[in-house]
This record gives sequence, structure tokens and C-alpha cells, in this order.
Amino acid sequence: MAEPNAKKQDEITKCAICGNGMAHTGTVVFYRVTLETFGLDAGAIQRAHGLELQMGAAAPLAQLLGPPGDIFQQLDEKQMLVCMDCAPGEIYPLLAYADPS
Ligand SMILES: [Zn+2]
Repeated sequence: MAEPNAKKQDEITKCAICGNGMAHTGTVVFYRVTLETFGLDAGAIQRAHGLELQMGAAAPLAQLLGPPGDIFQQLDEKQMLVCMDCAPGEIYPLLAYADPS
């Protein structure tokens, strides 16, 4: 029985940054990075803001009257593998901003 987190050989690609294979560093550890692109829905934001303006000081009541709508949507998703040579310079700095939860 296969390990639930195990991946097949055909799922391994070259490093998205340096173009080398994942094992060229001599270590067996590498990263898979998911990059999601989102776009704000300006119309939904304007509607929510308009409702808050109409409600004035009772703006929190506006959220009780109707559930908040979607104000952004996913436009794209890309996954890439990054080797251990490239991760310290390219990926580790981003980890400093990652949500710790
Ligand atoms: Zn690399």
C-alpha cells in the first residue's frame, strides 16, 4: 500500500528557479510551492462600502442583515518545485511572512 503523501516519479519536475533536478544538491529534501493569483471584485467592494455608508454608525448591523459577499476570486494557481540550493534565497524569505497558524 502506497504512502498517502508519496508522489510518483512523473510528478517530479526540474527546479523552477535553476532548472536542475531535485537531487542535484545531494539532499533528498525539496519544496513544492503553490502560487495562487487572486483578483478583487471592485463591484462587490463598492456595494459593501455603499451599504456601510448608508448604515452609518450602524455599519456592523449591515453584516447582520446580509452575509458578506465574495470580494475576491482566484484567477490562477501554479505549482512549482524548488531545490534546496534555491530555497534559502528564494523561498525562506517568504516563510518569514507566512501565517504561523
Ligand atoms: Zn534550484
